[in-house]
Amino acid sequence: MIIVKIGGGSSINIPGVIEDLAAFDERFVIVHGANALRDKLAEDLDQPKQVLTSVKGYTSVYSDEKLLDVMMMAYAGLRNKRIVELCQQNGINAVGLTGLDGKTVQGARNKGIRVYQGKKLKIIRDFSGKPQSVNAPLLHLLLENGYVPVLTVPIIDEFNTAINTENDDVVRVLQQALEAHTVINLIEAPGFMAYPDDAESLIKTIRAAELKAREQQVEGRMKRKILAIRKLFEHGASKVIIADGRREHPIHDALAGKGTVIE
Ligand code: ADP
Repeated sequence: MIIVKIGGGSSINIPGVIEDLAAFDERFVIVHGANALRDKLAEDLDQPKQVLTSVKGYTSVYSDEKLLDVMMMAYAGLRNKRIVELCQQNGINAVGLTGLDGKTVQGARNKGIRVYQGKKLKIIRDFSGKPQSVNAPLLHLLLENGYVPVLTVPIIDEFNTAINTENDDVVRVLQQALEAHTVINLIEAPGFMAYPDDAESLIKTIRAAELKAREQQVEGRMKRKILAIRKLFEHGASKVIIADGRREHPIHDALAGKGTVIE
């Protein structure tokens, strides 16, 4: 079992990813983002997103009800259905799901994010949270009957409310529930870079034990991603590949060792 996480950047070669997956023998589940699409849609609707930075330095999008609506349009609607369509065109019988559908991904709503506003410490609460469990029987039902789940946010909280969460965290609970040995994380970079602006600085291999130190060296969304990947190893993953989703054959190249292999 492999989990393929397709990042939400605008230059990911999704047709190439799906084409590669069609030639794949092993079982897989797709988790995808749509952040570039969400941001564009939010701008078009004149509701630009706001970003919060927690006191610990992790960034997240302020997910009020309006943002959740835009997310449902971008992730659950347009991006999810276009991926399902591409899968069908490539002979993959995909079923698109958010965490809400069949309670596929259940989570707990955040109590509030601690942020500084000027010098004042404030707690801001929104519709966001952390995934905690997966409806594994539903996913097995699909997989065992030849369907490929294509999952995205939002997920469902303890009050049956839709909440935003990080797809990298969805991957973490999925990996545990499905006992996936490998996770392929496709991003808009050659892999994990020592210096994000230097295309030559790709780090080809990282030991899982090094991830904590690596997390300290990066900022913004990559910091959050590395934290989520580190947790994957705490729960039994054996290999995570961070690879370039912009290539002609993203999955083929990732498995051929072209990105960053973390073991
Ligand atoms: P996604 O939605 O694809 O998961 P994120 O925005 O969460 O993407 O994080 C991946 C992005 O982080 C990359 O596409 C890249 O632009 C940026 N990035 C920042 N630091 C690094 C780094 N050290 N190595 C690789 N990418 C980095």
